[in-house]
Order: sequence, then C-alpha cells, then structure tokens
Amino acid sequence: MRKKIVAGNWKMNTTLEEGISLASEIKSKVAEIPSVHNKTEIILAPPFTHLYSVKQAIANSNILLSAQNCASETEGAYTGEVSANMLQSCGCDCVIIGHSERRAYYHETSQILLKKIKQALAKDMRIIFCCGEKLEDREAEKHFSVVEKQLQETVGKLSTTDLKQIVLAYEPVWAIGTGVTASKEQAQEMHAFIRKIIADNFGSAIAEETSILYGGSVKPSNAADLFAQPDVDGGLIGGAALQAESFLSIIKAQL
Ligand code: PEP
Repeated sequence: MRKKIVAGNWKMNTTLEEGISLASEIKSKVAEIPSVHNKTEIILAPPFTHLYSVKQAIANSNILLSAQNCASETEGAYTGEVSANMLQSCGCDCVIIGHSERRAYYHETSQILLKKIKQALAKDMRIIFCCGEKLEDREAEKHFSVVEKQLQETVGKLSTTDLKQIVLAYEPVWAIGTGVTASKEQAQEMHAFIRKIIADNFGSAIAEETSILYGGSVKPSNAADLFAQPDVDGGLIGGAALQAESFLSIIKAQL
C-alpha cells in the first residue's frame, strides 16, 4: 500500500527560534495521536538554516526532515548553493525539487531539475517532485500536456529503482498561496492522469506504489475532501503548515 503523506513546506518563513518552536509544537501534538504514524508520514521542510536544529527538535519522533531545494552540482565553487551531501549531513531524509516558485523565480528548467534529482538520489534521499500547470495553461486546456511534459523530462528519465525514491506533488500554480483550491474532481482527474503516466513508463505495480500529493491552498476546511479522492495520497502544505494547529488539523484529515 502506498504511503499517505502530509508535508509542510515552510518556504522562506520563520526565524530559527520560531522554526524550532513550531517543530517542537508539531512533535508534541503529533505524539497525542498514537496511531498517526501507522497511517500517515509527516514531513517538515524548514529553510536550510533551520535544518540541523529542527532535526534535533523532532528527534525521537517519526517525523521526517526535508529540505526545500538542493544544488544541481556535487560540490565546489558554487557560492550560496547547498549540496545534497550537506543536506544529508544535517539529517535530511528528503528534498523538495521542482517547486513552481523555483521554476518561476530561479528559472529552474527540467534539465536542471533532473540534475538535482540525481544529486539527491546519489545521497539516498527521497524526493518530493512538484509539477503543475499555470492558470493560462488550464484556461487553454493544456494542463494535461504541460504536466506530462514536466514529468517525462524529469522523473520519466529515471530507472524503476530510482522512481521508488520519488513522491510526486501535483501543485497547480494558480492554487499555490492564492486561497483558490483545485476542486476535488480537478485534483482526482489530474492525479489519475499522473498515475497513468507513471504506469505507462514504469508499469502499473510501481504506479500503484507511488504517492501523489496535492498542493495548493490546502486548509483544514478542504483537506478531508481532497484527501478522500482515490488517487490523492496526502498533501504538500504551504501557508497552513506554519501554525501547528492548522497543520495538525490537516494531518487528522488524512487519518
Ligand atoms: C506550496 O507552496 O507548496 C503550497 C502548496 O502552498 P500553499 O499551501 O500556501 O498554497
């Protein structure tokens, strides 16, 4: 059975002190739900500067640590970059790659994203790989072809063994941070389409084992409906992951 996952992407929010306190609060609230880890994997993705300290804060829990990005190169003269090796040495279990904000503001192409994926795989980290169309793509009814291209150019080039390290996140750009959420029907339709792409490339057994998360203005009020869809295996949460209470409500919606 594929994993259900709720991951919190903190983006460029929180000071170190706030981040440690948020992670500690999430840890103690999660501990009050004893069955949670049998059902749902919880992942926190704080900023780079907080990774090591958040790892300490979540010690002795089953909560996993993710980075929000990693370098496309292994090491050397790349000022300001953070390598997969460094992330692993801070205790990261996962890394988010291909978030639409990285694609839009830092011009990360599929070619760059594939290099990043390979860096993370070389360090045995799991990858939350994001895909999703812009509003203009959906309005032009190009959303399926855009998402298919994003996947074929990246995860489509991996081996079956490597694909087992990948969690996919469908994040329509028009829903990220906007308060507008894809309807449960829109989410299910795209998730089923993504699963079919994985099945066509890697076989249906692998596709059935691949977790596909939905991201884009998930809130306590809409999480249960989205997560109840057969191909939606949890969520990648931005804004609502910044308060322990709302993040916990979303986790509970996945139980
Ligand atoms: C995200 O950035 O991955 C995200 C889904 O953000 P939000 O939940 O704030 O829309």
